[in-house]
Amino acid sequence: MGKQIVIIGAGLAGTTAARELSQAGQPVTLIDPEAGDTYERPPLSKHLFDDARYHLPYHLESDEGITFVRHRAVSLTLAEAGAEIAGTVHLASGETLDFTHCILATGMEADRPEIPGYPDALPVYNLGEAEWIRGFVAEAGDPLDVGVLGSGYLGIEVASAAVAAGHKATVYLRGTEPLRRQLSAPVRQALFAKHREAGVRFVTEHTDAAAIPQGVHDLFVTSVGARPVRIPINGSLPTTDEHPADPEGTVAGEAPTFAWDVDAHLRTAYPGVWAAGDCAHITGGRFPLNHPWACEPVAESHGKYLAEQILAEDADSGVRDWTTASAGVEPWDDVPWHWSFQGPEKVFTAGLTSPDATDTIVRSDPSGAKFQVFHFAGPEPEAELVGVETLNWPPMQAAARRVLAGSNRPTRAQLENPEFDFKAHSRL
Ligand SMILES: Cc1cc2nc3c(=O)[nH]c(=O)nc-3n(C[C@H](O)[C@H](O)[C@H](O)COP(=O)(O)OP(=O)(O)OC[C@H]3O[C@@H](n4cnc5c(N)ncnc54)[C@H](O)[C@@H]3O)c2cc1C
Repeated sequence: MGKQIVIIGAGLAGTTAARELSQAGQPVTLIDPEAGDTYERPPLSKHLFDDARYHLPYHLESDEGITFVRHRAVSLTLAEAGAEIAGTVHLASGETLDFTHCILATGMEADRPEIPGYPDALPVYNLGEAEWIRGFVAEAGDPLDVGVLGSGYLGIEVASAAVAAGHKATVYLRGTEPLRRQLSAPVRQALFAKHREAGVRFVTEHTDAAAIPQGVHDLFVTSVGARPVRIPINGSLPTTDEHPADPEGTVAGEAPTFAWDVDAHLRTAYPGVWAAGDCAHITGGRFPLNHPWACEPVAESHGKYLAEQILAEDADSGVRDWTTASAGVEPWDDVPWHWSFQGPEKVFTAGLTSPDATDTIVRSDPSGAKFQVFHFAGPEPEAELVGVETLNWPPMQAAARRVLAGSNRPTRAQLENPEFDFKAHSRL
């Protein structure tokens, strides 16, 4: 029996896997209510107030190689051991699809708190929401007063973009500084100062949405987190570990939800079922975290990796069964990285960085305006470099990615030396 590959979710991870498989001649079925109409999400939060392209479609067509099924998948059931198929996907329409390989790529969904006095408050998580906001902005004509609840990447991107376009923006945040869960102190504090200087207003230690002054803001955007979309497998959802599934933190009073735990080969605990992108939590390999990576480069890389591995089964004449054994199968090993463009500020991370790190090394360009923060596996002098944050210095972000991908990582002593040429080292 040939492979019956089903991918659930036509976002970046699912689209990439489907494209790679079909281009190699392997037919695949892609399930998503929006299959064929999906698009990149990053421009949505960055281009609400300017004329730059905010809608970047994936341009994937349903054809002989890829069959679109425009429905929601509601559950999976697994076949008995020894059966020819690995399991069956159940759709909201009542139809079913058998599979030998299933990739879960269902992404995340945004939390949607209600804001008293602002019934139209919404997150910017999908194209419909971005278009509604862009329409509102275009119709208003005059500068707007924008309220934002939450100070993770998306909230700060919206507020800084609004101010850069001549609007007012106020960010209400729980703590004392924005981006507290995303970036280390030197980077988040530099951004905090730059955004305040640019005119973004911050209301810190704000814990009660009901206390947001009513009738002040023309437009209100919420950005308090997102959680992985999961589909029950044999009636169960992931319940393992203590890890928070939500990189922005869970909403107070709500039970946390979990992503699918996957090993270094992106396998779930269920034979024949993998997870990729924002709904996957990688527990093994070189770059494990306690939550999904939730960034575009990882989603794309996961999609490519799974396509390559599934196609490689043929190279072994079908003998290798990597659905149950990892022998001979390379783990997923790309350097994870993330970017966030906040008005004129550009911030990047590569590899493992921690917002709580204190034993970092900071290196700046001569003006001091651009800098990098280097993170290590431990406090020991010989501890390995594991991650780098970069503010407003894109060529050095590229150098950081090269270094982390290779085996020639600089030592602490080298990085502490102001004469050390990190960029040249990255090319060795
Ligand atoms: C506004 C915004 C800005 C962002 N900015 C950045 C950025 O600057 N840099 C960066 O690196 N990352 C950014 N990200 C994150 C990045 O977009 C995601 O990490 C990436 O899209 C994840 O890809 P994915 O394929 O896992 O999920 P998604 O792209 O979310 O796709 C999931 C798909 O699954 C489908 N689906 C869900 N449930 C079901 C079901 N039951 N049945 C069938 N289909 C289903 C959905 O319809 C969706 O099409 C941003 C995200 C958002 C929302």
